[in-house]
Amino acid sequence: FVAGQSHEGYTTYAPSYDDHSPRRLTLMSELRQAIEKEQLHIYYQPKVSVATGQVYGAEALVRWQHPKHGFISPDEFIPMAERTRVIKHLTSWVLKQSFKHCAEWRKRGWELTISVNLSAKDLHDPELPDVMAGVAAAANIKPGWMMLEITESSIMTDPERAMEVIQRLHEMGYKLSIDDFGTGYSSLAYLKRMPLTELKIDKSFVVDLLKSENDAVIVKATINLAHNLGLQVTAEGVETQDVMDKLSSYQCDLAQGYLFSKPMPFEDFGAWLAANR
Ligand code: C2E
Ligand code: MG
Ligand code: MG
Ligand code: MG
Repeated sequence: FVAGQSHEGYTTYAPSYDDHSPRRLTLMSELRQAIEKEQLHIYYQPKVSVATGQVYGAEALVRWQHPKHGFISPDEFIPMAERTRVIKHLTSWVLKQSFKHCAEWRKRGWELTISVNLSAKDLHDPELPDVMAGVAAAANIKPGWMMLEITESSIMTDPERAMEVIQRLHEMGYKLSIDDFGTGYSSLAYLKRMPLTELKIDKSFVVDLLKSENDAVIVKATINLAHNLGLQVTAEGVETQDVMDKLSSYQCDLAQGYLFSKPMPFEDFGAWLAANR
């Protein structure tokens, strides 16, 4: 393994997953207890209106602060959680926390829509809607305050089963978003049938928007596709004002990225909001 540092200071390992490496085996068994030991935290990254600069909401992003290894990226431990079936436990913890935080912000009069990521495994769990109903009732939130982010690939592994869960979540009032759009394989026929609110353009197309003509074409076409399907579009990975200006000329609805803020702890969001309203 080659250890390296990524943009947020995570330790990352290349090449791709090796479930049998000693580090991975230890981490997999530790992940089960990480929740009880309060090593997981949710960070929030604002979503901002391109046209007005108003704050629309925030995405909840889970972090694992490991006592020995420091911050471990969700890109590393979410796939582990999916393989070991810890994901169900992890997802319900993320839902509980983010619903609680959302309720707290609503109490303060902040009308934020909070986005939460679901994994493919969650979408194939017929119990998920019931779990969510329980969590929403306990936290006293309205499902309409929440947006659930799902990926194209998580739908396409078993479209009929995923569709059933998606349909139920929609009927309960949750907003649905397709995350990392353009990176997975997806069927436009399914997309058209799904009760979506949003398409989220993957950051790999957004970061080089000004340097790559191909990326620019893809971003522009995705925005038009989304609008023609009656959906709002969020661009993720917006790091510079130049990219923001370009997105504005394409009439992109929302933007998210380091230009506005890195993901931050719940406690810091209020101060950021006060400074950026
Ligand atoms: P994602 O949902 O596509 O989240 C966006 C990722 O882009 C986040 O990485 C965020 O920190 C990063 N990002 C935001 N703005 C910028 C920017 O301007 N430039 C660049 N280069 N990156 C930016 P993060 O937090 O490491 O999360 C990685 C992935 O892990 C997420 O991708 C999501 O798929 C997954 N994930 C995170 N939290 C959860 C969770 O609670 N449950 C599940 N199932 N998956 C999660
Ligand atoms: Mg996401
Ligand atoms: Mg994404
Ligand atoms: Mg992603």
